[in-house]
Amino acid sequence: MYIFLLLVFLVVGFILLINSMLKLYNFIKNNGRQNLSRQFKKIKQEILNKIMHDFNVPNWNMWDKSTHFIDGQYERLQRAVTESIEVISYDDDNISATIKGSTGNTYSTNYSACSCPDFQLRKLPCKHMYLLCIWMHENNKHRT
Ligand SMILES: [Zn+2]
Repeated sequence: MYIFLLLVFLVVGFILLINSMLKLYNFIKNNGRQNLSRQFKKIKQEILNKIMHDFNVPNWNMWDKSTHFIDGQYERLQRAVTESIEVISYDDDNISATIKGSTGNTYSTNYSACSCPDFQLRKLPCKHMYLLCIWMHENNKHRT
């Protein structure tokens, strides 16, 4: 009888031990994940800060700095560099350009607006506007 009680006690103890180990494992795992996402956020922030500095060079200060930190903006900025969109023609005085998008359509773009559906829908800088800004920045660098 006592052996049976001892056995039950051992089994319960074993289950409790496993349970707390699992909790500890999950705690460590989640902590690691949080650290990773925190690091990722920090890197993203640093990249954006650097870009923000570059945006000031071609006088693209129509948008508040926080605009570029809104969800989805960073991805648009990335697409401006990675997708095959190009500046077709360019008006230096008005800082506007005709940009050929990834779908082949052309859009008239300036620092405050773009004729593409993305801008019409969100009223936030689209990839074409980011490209124009990057393009301006590069152009200014070559000029001086
Ligand atoms: Zn656009």
